[in-house]
Amino acid sequence: MPNRRMLRSCQAVVDSLSLPKPFSVGALLADLATRRGRPINVHTLDGAMTAHTCGLWISTDFSDDIFVEERTTAFHREHIILHEIGHLVCDHGAIHDGASTTFARLLPDLDPALVRRLLARTNYTDEQEQEAELVASLIRTAAGSRAGPPSGGVRGELELALGIRE
Ligand SMILES: [Zn+2]
Repeated sequence: MPNRRMLRSCQAVVDSLSLPKPFSVGALLADLATRRGRPINVHTLDGAMTAHTCGLWISTDFSDDIFVEERTTAFHREHIILHEIGHLVCDHGAIHDGASTTFARLLPDLDPALVRRLLARTNYTDEQEQEAELVASLIRTAAGSRAGPPSGGVRGELELALGIRE
């Protein structure tokens, strides 16, 4: 369960994003790419993402590449992308253990089998996973609250659970 400090820091990260209006995951990706001065490419993989709730983010010298499972709902796919954006904006260690040149050469045509091997090497801590998930949820909440009256959403539930609801 995320703690109060994590909620605050993740909210600050999300606040700093100045989410696009109207919101879409695609527009957010475009904004982030512009801000970072490097492309963010999203690739779909054919059913390769078993046993992992998240997709994969690979940072190379030239671009950021996010991989998501193809065989899932559009909503879930967007959530996975937001989760990976969470890792990205929180600056969690991406895979760049000296192999970025290899990745850059292989992208965007990475073999799903290779990606599965890469997945096995993503060693985010539980806390980093919670942060990424929290950022994804907070982005959704912030984006949703622009479209209509605030519903409370995930953040409201979290605040209630943490006893910090205003
Ligand atoms: Zn993750």
